[in-house]
Amino acid sequence: MLIPQEISTQELDYPLWKQKGIQVFIRRLDQVHTLASGNKFFKLKYNLEQARKEGKNTLLTFGGAYSNHIYATAAAAKASGFNSIGIIRGEETLPLNPTLNAVLVQGMVLHYISREEYRRKKNLDFLDQLKSSFGDFYLVPEGGTNELAVRGTSEILNKTDSGYTHFATSIGTGGTFAGLAKSIGAQQQLLGFSSLKGEFIHGEIASLLDQFNILPKGRIEIFDTYHFGGYGKANDDLIGFIRWFYREFGIPLDPVYTSKMMYGLIDLINKDYFLEGSKIMALHTGGLQGIAGFNQRFGLSLPL
Ligand SMILES: *Cc1c(COP(=O)(O)O)cnc(C)c1O
Repeated sequence: MLIPQEISTQELDYPLWKQKGIQVFIRRLDQVHTLASGNKFFKLKYNLEQARKEGKNTLLTFGGAYSNHIYATAAAAKASGFNSIGIIRGEETLPLNPTLNAVLVQGMVLHYISREEYRRKKNLDFLDQLKSSFGDFYLVPEGGTNELAVRGTSEILNKTDSGYTHFATSIGTGGTFAGLAKSIGAQQQLLGFSSLKGEFIHGEIASLLDQFNILPKGRIEIFDTYHFGGYGKANDDLIGFIRWFYREFGIPLDPVYTSKMMYGLIDLINKDYFLEGSKIMALHTGGLQGIAGFNQRFGLSLPL
């Protein structure tokens, strides 16, 4: 069973924000599970239930070599008594990075495919081929976004959150944003910060909302200018920000998602985007497992 731990919501005390009459809180979704942490816990929850209902005993999913989704799927599968298979984009590099090492410990079977093959991840013939190699499985899509995932992420907010004026989240595939969009109230606003480069994300989110019949009651807004060069990319500015945030608040942020969201949010505060009296909740969507690999790759020592 995947059992949630208690999630805290902490206020971030910062004199400048107080002066502006703005309150900022952070909901620590990273605390929900030691291994299957952050938004991935919510995205996997109902998929695990569904896999069990369908009588499947193996989960198969796709991801990059540093993927939070691969990591969380391996851990959730292990904790719930499923086998897991990770189809990894690109060639195996040895020694394995910390993410892949950890998923092997969780019992995940890894299978590497070329970038060309990887593009066929939604292709039914390709999935049949995988079934003949690995046996039957429950497919969790890359990034984990599907209808059941959105049902899970729509449970991140609850009734006691009606006093917040704004929620802020990072965006990858948009599954988390879509679930939040479903649950905000009429007087509340959802801000999404894309960690990917490109304006395509606006269309992507629109089609997700359409596909899952989500008509947000409140206002939603997507920012596509805080990607720092694109997915998995960072610069000294972002690295410096992660260090500053940890010194100031004692909370680690990951370089792929949460730091970009928080950087964007604070930038908006500085630019007086928020009215006096705003009460903002930033969602710490997790991703801390990726820091070790990032540090190793770039010779850094970001806090984890
Ligand atoms: C996967 C992930 C996201 C993006 O979630 P989506 O539902 O794909 O948009 C954001 N933050 C962290 C830490 C993640 O691991």
